[in-house]
Amino acid sequence: MRLLLVEDDLMIGEQLLDLLRAEHYAVDWVRDGEQADGALAAQQYDLVILDLGLPKRDGMSVLRGLRAQKKTVPVLISTARDAVEQRIAGLDAGADDYVLKPFDLDELLARIRALLRRASGRAEPVYEHKGVSVNPATREVSVQGQSVSLSAREWAVLEPLLARPGLVLSRQQLEEKLYSWKDEISSNAVEVYIHGLRKKLGPELIQNVRGVGYRVPKE
Ligand code: CA
Repeated sequence: MRLLLVEDDLMIGEQLLDLLRAEHYAVDWVRDGEQADGALAAQQYDLVILDLGLPKRDGMSVLRGLRAQKKTVPVLISTARDAVEQRIAGLDAGADDYVLKPFDLDELLARIRALLRRASGRAEPVYEHKGVSVNPATREVSVQGQSVSLSAREWAVLEPLLARPGLVLSRQQLEEKLYSWKDEISSNAVEVYIHGLRKKLGPELIQNVRGVGYRVPKE
C-alpha cells in the first residue's frame, strides 16, 4: 500500500518513515503543504497521514482542497494532544480519523490498518479463500491450517490485492504500491514476487487476468 506522509518536523518525519517502511508500506514523505498538493496531484495514494501545522499551506487547506476535488483517499490527521478544536475542524473538513502527538506508534499502525480496511469495504480483518487465510494485522498466513511466512516485498504485493478482492490491479499499479520515489525498480519485480507468492500460497489465490493484471478472488 502506498502512503503519503505530510510532516514538517524532521525528527517525527524520519521516525514515522522508518516505522512505516518497516511495516512494508511504500511511503513518500513531503514537508510542506504545497509539496503535499503536488504529490496528491501526481500520485494515487491509499492513505494520507497529514500534519495540520505545516509551512506554506496548512494541513486544513490541503485537506479541504483534496475533498473539494472529490478525492476520497482516507486521511489521518495528526494533531497535538490539547488541540481538540483543531481535531474537530479536521474531522468536519473531511478527515477520516486522527492521531495524537506524541504518537503511540502501535496505535498509529492500528488506525492505519483500520482505515485501509474500511476503505476497501471490508468489515472482517481476515481474508479467507479456499483454505488460504490471511490476517493483515498480525501478518499471519496459513494454507490448509499450515502457517506460511512471507517476505516484506511479497506482503507489499499481496496486501493491495487482498484489500479489494475481485478487482484487477495492473503490474504498474502493483509496482506503485511496492516502491516509493527513491527506490530502484527492476522491470520484472512484480512477476518475481507473484511467482514467490504462488509457490507459497498455491496457484489459485492470485489470478492472472491476461493482458490486464492480477486479482485475488472474492471470498
Ligand atoms: Ca507541524
